[in-house]
Amino acid sequence: METVQVDVAVVGGGPAGLAAAWKAREAGAERVMLVERDFELGGILQQCIHPGFGLRYFKEELTGPEYAERFIARIREAGIEVKLNTMVLEIIPSGAPSVAPECALMCVNRQDGVLSIRAKAVVLAMGCRERTRGAIAIPGERPAGIYTAGTAQRLINMEGLMPGRQVVILGSGDIGLIMARRLTLEGAEVKAVVEIMPRPGGLERNLVQCLHDFDIPLLLRHTVVEVHGRQRVEGVTIAAVDENSKPVAGTEQFIACDTLLLSVGLIPEVELCRGAGIEIHPVTGGPVVNEWRQTSMPSIFACGNLLHVHDLVDNVTREAEIAGREAARYSRGELRAKPEAIAMVPGRNVRYVVPQFISAWGEEEVQVYFRVVETEEDVYVVAKLGEQLVARKRQMRVQPPEMVSLRLRPQAMVESLRKLVELKGISAKDLVCRIEVEPHGQN
Ligand SMILES: Cc1cc2nc3c(=O)[nH]c(=O)nc-3n(C[C@H](O)[C@H](O)[C@H](O)COP(=O)(O)OP(=O)(O)OC[C@H]3O[C@@H](n4cnc5c(N)ncnc54)[C@H](O)[C@@H]3O)c2cc1C
Repeated sequence: METVQVDVAVVGGGPAGLAAAWKAREAGAERVMLVERDFELGGILQQCIHPGFGLRYFKEELTGPEYAERFIARIREAGIEVKLNTMVLEIIPSGAPSVAPECALMCVNRQDGVLSIRAKAVVLAMGCRERTRGAIAIPGERPAGIYTAGTAQRLINMEGLMPGRQVVILGSGDIGLIMARRLTLEGAEVKAVVEIMPRPGGLERNLVQCLHDFDIPLLLRHTVVEVHGRQRVEGVTIAAVDENSKPVAGTEQFIACDTLLLSVGLIPEVELCRGAGIEIHPVTGGPVVNEWRQTSMPSIFACGNLLHVHDLVDNVTREAEIAGREAARYSRGELRAKPEAIAMVPGRNVRYVVPQFISAWGEEEVQVYFRVVETEEDVYVVAKLGEQLVARKRQMRVQPPEMVSLRLRPQAMVESLRKLVELKGISAKDLVCRIEVEPHGQN
């Protein structure tokens, strides 16, 4: 078995892995290796041929492949080694008797057979996968013609194949909405997008540009209760649901179609993380990290859709740059955490917060990202250490599909902490920082 030694190894060559590898090199890591199981770099971006990428990062509207190409060029220029068609099967964290003091990545490909990459620091960027029919248990036959929206996107945009002609889409997440438009442009009839929740799952801009502009009906509070057809899908029965998401008897209607697309959620690809013993967050489904995107295994960092499902690739890139830069610092032994980390916890109308910990509070600005539970208009998003306000920003609207961010300034953290520790006698280790949404009138 061949063994290579590197400073930083990056797993996954999507936008997160590309930005992390490039930044690690820029931050001084001498030998950086990027490992991708596919035959090319770019990840999901390669199948997203629609525009809408890069408005924040590049201040330009690019397609997915154009966005990816900018980073692939940076990877080439920086002389980063890339292993394509290479699957990482296992990660053995540093400290394990067989590999200490480095991490070992056990990989397999046709050229090298089994390859062991020894790295001082690792960045994980494996993205996420789509929930399938099995995960949501739709009853009925098992005919051909049922695809996840991402698979259908790959078939049309990369393989030149049409999955069907008369389509029903279950789930109104962004991928489903984008595919409703794509299929219509390719000549298919999208009969309906069916959503079990009382509100759409995707971004407002996608609702307008992908459904409203093409007169595609969106049926909220409905679900598919049966799939018909033995060899091929012949139709689906849909029904309205009650407040507990249970189908309401008597509301069933049959829609004839040859294809059912599922856009019912994404799940972070955490199998390697679980194998390495990395702590997983129950709400995001991804690793728990601090502000450097360092996981519970200190030599392993994580970013991108593996960490939490992002709405915009620009945010993926920014997050991955932090992970890459800090992995480079870790590989040189320069990363230092304070003995007490401050836990970042969700408060009123917040579903989750990333990062989940701040380990070097008071030293640099930290940007936290979170998603809300319910849509609210004209609010403040706030961060509170105990009852001390450390950050506040007014926002005209917050809604579940859109990630919200808030900057925590180091000085505010230190001042609030000092007041709590000195005046109220609270121990720093007991501190949590609550991120929440407050109605405007309350302030
Ligand atoms: C259909 C769709 C439409 C989108 N539209 C937009 C849009 O309009 N605008 C926008 O800004 N964003 C959009 N996004 C979001 C954006 O594409 C994603 O947020 C982004 O691709 C996530 O990047 P990532 O690197 O974390 O994951 P991915 O892009 O999924 O990359 C992960 C990579 O890791 C590799 N990998 C996984 N496991 C292993 C392993 N064990 N060994 C080796 N390699 C491995 C995979 O092959 C893959 O290449 C869209 C996403 C989708 C799915």
